[in-house]
Amino acid sequence: MPGPHRRLPAVHRILEHPSIRQQVESGRVARQEAAACVRQVLDELRALPPDRLEQTHTSPDAVAERAAACIQIRQNERLQRLINATGVILHTNLGRAVLSGRAAERVAQAVAATNVEIDRNTGRRSRRGVRAESLLTRLTGAEAALIVNNCAAATMLALQGTAAGKEVIISRGQLVEIGGGFRLPDVFRAAGVILKEVGTANRTRIDDYRQAITSETGAVLRVHRSNFRVSGFVSEPESRELVSLCREHSLPFIDDLGSGCLTDLRPVGLQEPVVSDRVAAGADLVLFSGDKLLGGPQAGILLGSAERIDALRQHPLARALRVCKLTLAALEATLEQHLAGDAFAAVPALTMLAAPAADIRRRCEQIVCRLPKSSWQVTVEDTRCEAGGGCLAGQTIPGAAVRITCDHPQQLLRALRTGPAGILGRIENGGVLLDLRSVCPDDDRLIEQELRRLMDSSGSGDL
Ligand SMILES: *Cc1c(COP(=O)(O)O)cnc(C)c1O
Repeated sequence: MPGPHRRLPAVHRILEHPSIRQQVESGRVARQEAAACVRQVLDELRALPPDRLEQTHTSPDAVAERAAACIQIRQNERLQRLINATGVILHTNLGRAVLSGRAAERVAQAVAATNVEIDRNTGRRSRRGVRAESLLTRLTGAEAALIVNNCAAATMLALQGTAAGKEVIISRGQLVEIGGGFRLPDVFRAAGVILKEVGTANRTRIDDYRQAITSETGAVLRVHRSNFRVSGFVSEPESRELVSLCREHSLPFIDDLGSGCLTDLRPVGLQEPVVSDRVAAGADLVLFSGDKLLGGPQAGILLGSAERIDALRQHPLARALRVCKLTLAALEATLEQHLAGDAFAAVPALTMLAAPAADIRRRCEQIVCRLPKSSWQVTVEDTRCEAGGGCLAGQTIPGAAVRITCDHPQQLLRALRTGPAGILGRIENGGVLLDLRSVCPDDDRLIEQELRRLMDSSGSGDL
């Protein structure tokens, strides 16, 4: 082996280097993981051509520094708490709804043995989710409820359970792609039904549905256009027209609502269909997500008659799609907060949605005025935010952001994201924007501290 390769330090020497040893001893990283990082760094150095390696620092200090960076990368891959300063409240990539403190407490309790399928009062076996289901029926007026893994799972169960092997009529205006490259029509087909598309992208009439009904029809499905909007020359039938057409032909009408808004949002200037209205309109099954406007954990909810829901409950797929006790604990707590009538104050997703823009601006100003003078220009800027997560498509909410104008906004964005506070922002017009509408007010202090820390390091030329 040529000279420079032989001079590379041994793995154990790097593991004993104070910067690495301290991370292992403090329990921040497992020794095995640290060793794997050291080996990876040494392998990378060994793979360099001799002349390149000659010009590379390979002292124990330099190798330990590389290994520490590798450890940091692996640490950042862990699931961990982040600060969502993107301005998108229900950010699917950030886990959608932030759970309430109450929900977090109930999840923490449920890690122990719980009464997930035992009735404490009788000692007999009970059904998973009874309490959450009864809260759901009280909140929505539905006769019965069933909880599954997510709304996509709810649509699969609803379709497979009511129309397996048959045709399901759907408007061409509702063939939605929901993100992550997934298209709902593909999910529906995977549920073992044949989609029969009717109408056009902008207009579908009740007669289009009527003409498509044959002996092969198993159900009529409506999908809420959650993440896009059509405007102009558009029309589609009202709920009551679809309900009466389906009743006439004894077909189930399935209403996939997605967003799952339990409270009327008009008082805060937003429009989204309310679940109880859709139930009252007479849909046979109403489906929605738990982690969108309901503000709870990932879940899919099916509402309908006791008979229909019981039939779906018995379906083998229901067993495959069931939720865990931690989800149920968080969902119960969130639903109780809705039932107590203080959802806007208690459920973070709704608090964020309803916060007056002036309050958000004030929070931004507070951060800005506490920061020391630096070479960065830090100002407050009015913004437009979105609910995200496939809710309130096309409706923006006025918000406010801290704007940082600096020489290298991309680097700052990265430093905020990978730094200890894990802050996600965005770049707009050459500056970094930290939008506070999607941030819990308790985290404002952390944002300020992190900006202060990065300002100091930028002063020393690191940024
Ligand atoms: C979001 C959405 C879904 C998917 O819900 P998940 O809970 O993410 O599975 C399905 N249908 C509609 C109409 C939606 O808005």
